[in-house]
Amino acid sequence: MSQTNFSSLNLRPELVSNLDTLGYTEMTPIQAQSLPSILEGKDVIGQGKTGSGKTAAFGLGLLQRLNVERFRIQTLVLCPTRELADQVAKEIRKLARGIHNIKVLTLCGGMPFGPQIGSLEHGAHIIVGTPGRVLDHLNKGTLRLDNLTTFVLDEADRMLEMGFQDALDAIVEKAPSDRQTLLFSATFPKKIEAIASKIMVNPEMVEVASTH
Ligand code: ADP
Ligand code: MG
Repeated sequence: MSQTNFSSLNLRPELVSNLDTLGYTEMTPIQAQSLPSILEGKDVIGQGKTGSGKTAAFGLGLLQRLNVERFRIQTLVLCPTRELADQVAKEIRKLARGIHNIKVLTLCGGMPFGPQIGSLEHGAHIIVGTPGRVLDHLNKGTLRLDNLTTFVLDEADRMLEMGFQDALDAIVEKAPSDRQTLLFSATFPKKIEAIASKIMVNPEMVEVASTH
């Protein structure tokens, strides 16, 4: 049995305090099963329905592992749409409250490039974005992933359905190979299996059948 209380994880005090404020007392099943491995730095595939708490599973993991002193892009989270990227960024910011100077930046399509380039020049720790726009910035040279330690694909099934396969491949090619890769998805079709075996190393599979 995995522990279901967040206190078993030894999280940073800011995270513990924010969980308390958010009223998250017990981990959801996907959090309980994936967080220990995520915190160890392993590659993890998390499969669970909408509403199972996948955002905090990877969000707490990446925030705990981040080196805040190092003002470099260490984490990239890819989401299928701007709306989902905004939601994920919002949840990460809530979980990160009080961690000194932490910077989360969104890079989504349908938004002007100018302000995004300006924000990238100022720097960030975490990028949350959509594949097309992130790739545009990589191709322009306005974004570099040399310091990336954690790469997250959220709603991977939807990203593939939306035709982002080539963009994902191109982004992965520009990321350091000694990174942690986390993949979250509501479903696990063959295409996901294929991309996972290409971009992940000995991934741990966590599957949760129902919501909490
Ligand atoms: P998913 O990405 O799996 O669809 P979300 O990450 O969006 O799910 O989480 C669904 C809802 O559950 C959100 O409103 C979130 O605030 C809430 N939630 C997440 N983890 C917990 C928890 N441990 N305890 C209580 N609520 C939680
Ligand atoms: Mg989600």
